[in-house]
Amino acid sequence: MKDKLTLEWLGTGSAMNYELGNSNFTLTRGDSKAAIDLSANNANMLVARNFELGSLVNFIATHNHGDHIDGLEGVGFLGWNALGRKDAERPTLYVASQRVLGALKSTLYEKMKDQQLPDNTPFQADFDFYFNAVVGREINIPGLPAIYLHSTLHVQDMECYGVHVPEYGLWISGDTREVKELPEGTRLAFRDAGGPGNEARVHSDFDVDLVSQPGDEKAITFLYHMGGKWRDAKPKQHGFAGMVMPGDKFTLDGNDYRLDTAETFTHQRVLYSGPRE
Ligand SMILES: [Zn+2]
Repeated sequence: MKDKLTLEWLGTGSAMNYELGNSNFTLTRGDSKAAIDLSANNANMLVARNFELGSLVNFIATHNHGDHIDGLEGVGFLGWNALGRKDAERPTLYVASQRVLGALKSTLYEKMKDQQLPDNTPFQADFDFYFNAVVGREINIPGLPAIYLHSTLHVQDMECYGVHVPEYGLWISGDTREVKELPEGTRLAFRDAGGPGNEARVHSDFDVDLVSQPGDEKAITFLYHMGGKWRDAKPKQHGFAGMVMPGDKFTLDGNDYRLDTAETFTHQRVLYSGPRE
């Protein structure tokens, strides 16, 4: 039997889903871990989780939207301003193409360029100061299985990718309006179901695009990236494996998967009436 691969969802909602958070996840095998996309909300959550953000060194970015990449700003600042990381200590950011890398650099450049040394000497920091960038659709991180980024249609004229880990039969659609066929050997799939009631057509819609999929495919497919009406979707009643929630952990052994919901959560506002001295 293979070493187990764990997929943990940090959040599973659309960009503005305040209960389910942003659809980013981690893949872990043994001591190796990668975060696939990171919003600012999820970066904060990984700080709250016993400063886990400080130990992450492998990041993958699927496309240049804030709910998938805004957390990289925090990773960069944390790396230099709190941890003093530079050169070989920089975290590695994996992207599928030079075009995606260029988009990320331009998004982050203005926000991250002003820096200073411990003696207050200012300097200009570019993207490469904070990150070691690796470009390519096949991602080989020591300790993890090969991760492949597959191109998918999200917003017209924008590059966007989903994730495929063939060694474990794991396939994730990425942000998309496209209903791609599952690759042969898929045992566990996740599809963007940005609806119901999604009108901009940059995500596939539960009713329009997904309900009519073949039953055997739906039986191994969980839905994610839903908006505020996620409670109305009821995917299990339509033959899907379910809807994925923040904190859900899927353990894969190459043949099958197990879903652990012991740490499943939703975000909520917590009232505070403590001291304000
Ligand atoms: Zn997106």
